[in-house]
Amino acid sequence: MDNYCVFGNPIEHSRSPFIHQQFALQTQQIINYQKTLVPLDQFPHAVHTFIKQGGKGANVTVPFKEQALLLCDQLSVAAQKAGAVNTLSFIDGKTFGDNTDGLGLVADLLNNEITLTNKKILLLGAGGAAKGVVLPLLKQNPQQLIIVNRTLEKAENIVAQYQVDNLIAFSYQTLPEQTFDLIINATSASLSGFVPDIPSNIVAENTVCYDMVYGKQATCFMLWATKQGATVVMDGLGMLVNQAAASFALWRKVPPQTSIVLQQLRQILNDP
Ligand code: NDP
Repeated sequence: MDNYCVFGNPIEHSRSPFIHQQFALQTQQIINYQKTLVPLDQFPHAVHTFIKQGGKGANVTVPFKEQALLLCDQLSVAAQKAGAVNTLSFIDGKTFGDNTDGLGLVADLLNNEITLTNKKILLLGAGGAAKGVVLPLLKQNPQQLIIVNRTLEKAENIVAQYQVDNLIAFSYQTLPEQTFDLIINATSASLSGFVPDIPSNIVAENTVCYDMVYGKQATCFMLWATKQGATVVMDGLGMLVNQAAASFALWRKVPPQTSIVLQQLRQILNDP
């Protein structure tokens, strides 16, 4: 049986083992997928131990995605651009790093019939998650992709990596007051109950508002978006399932179906 795991700290609440076990059942793959709590100073040791034990691949979550990049012999373009790795593959003594977060976001949007081509997109945040989604978003040829971040320099650094006309950085203070087709909250503000400091008039009735954070209840950003009149408001659970699907497909060379697993996960989240 091939062994996989997810490394993180904390890791207790990770849904990845459930998601990958469902994908394996669905595609008749025989795999074992565990979650591994890694002490903050022991990430390289944990990875090397897993490789020695015959591990075939691993997901990496907070706070180790940047460290994972340093361990790889070879990186995908997505991982290089993101500066972070969420998927490791161990093949013939070499470690390959990829980043499937952005694919997961774009797949979730497209699965919900939200197209991005020629659209005006606002990305809130310039941390690891934001960095990971810029390349896949740009590949959809949006009319405009604006990144706004509390620390402007981080948004500017992302823009400098690409040097394309439709990617622009702003601070919250200088963000142009125009409506957007899609607003993606890639900040961690929802985790502490804050909505980033954005004006309400950037939301139109048909603006899709997407929070990468997910949970039992709608996040404060989702509630804020609904209050501004947005009719399509989504959380990041679909992104989670779809990034996992992209990792699974990389490892097992078979793409799983995501919609059933997403439904199951939503049910588990909503269970009292
Ligand atoms: P990072 O810590 O790397 O970045 C956090 C970002 O949030 C930074 O841009 C930071 O701004 C910004 N921020 C934090 N608090 C505030 C605030 N009060 N107001 C405005 N901006 C704020 O985190 P990640 O990028 O790794 O993750 C971001 C979120 O995305 C997390 O909540 C995570 O759970 C979620 N996520 C979801 C995934 C999914 O599959 N659904 C996948 C990956 C992440 P500054 O730079 O100024 O500090």
